[in-house]
Amino acid sequence: MLRLQIHLTLPPWIGDVVDDGKRYLTDEERVGLAIELSRRNIEHNQGGPFGAAVFNGDGRVVSVGVNRVIPQTCSIAHAEMMAYMSAQQRLAAFRLNGDGNRYTLATSAQPCCQCYGATVWAGVDELLIGARAEDVEELTEFDEGPLPADWVGELERRGIAVRRDILREQARSVLATYGQSGRHY
Ligand SMILES: [Zn+2]
Repeated sequence: MLRLQIHLTLPPWIGDVVDDGKRYLTDEERVGLAIELSRRNIEHNQGGPFGAAVFNGDGRVVSVGVNRVIPQTCSIAHAEMMAYMSAQQRLAAFRLNGDGNRYTLATSAQPCCQCYGATVWAGVDELLIGARAEDVEELTEFDEGPLPADWVGELERRGIAVRRDILREQARSVLATYGQSGRHY
C-alpha cells in the first residue's frame, strides 16, 4: 500500500543529554554536545556514531539529531538531517533563518554529501564541525560521498560560515570506538 505519511523519531534518552535551559555559547560547547550525542547513540546500539544540534542566536538548543538509519529503515536519517527536520518542524519554518535570526548547526563529523546538500537549503548561518570526512573514512566503514572541491567556499558564498576541527580528537575517539566494535549500522 502506498504510504501517505512519513514518521521519524529520536530516541527517548535524548532528554538526558540536552539541557534545555542552558546557553551553549562556545563552539566547543556546541560541538561537544553533538559528540556526546554521537557517543550515547553507539552506547545504546541505536544507530551510527553521529550527532548534531541546531542552536539559535542565544545559544539555546532548538533541536538535536542522531543517526537513525537502521532503526528507522531510512537512508536519509542522518544526524544532521534529523536535526534540521526537527528544528524546521519546531519553528514551523522550512528555512530556519527566514525569521531574521541566526542559527548554527554543530555536528560531530563533517557532513556527508547528502547532509552537505541539506545544509545549503536549511537556513543556517554557521556550520561547526568536529571530525573530518577523512577521519570518518579512516576509522569506520562509511563512505562520505562526493563533495564539491571547494565545499567550504560554496557554503561561505551562500552566507554560511564554516569552522572545522573543533574537539576533533574527541570526535575521532567516538568514531574509533564504533569502528573497533565491529558493528555496522
Ligand atoms: Zn549525512
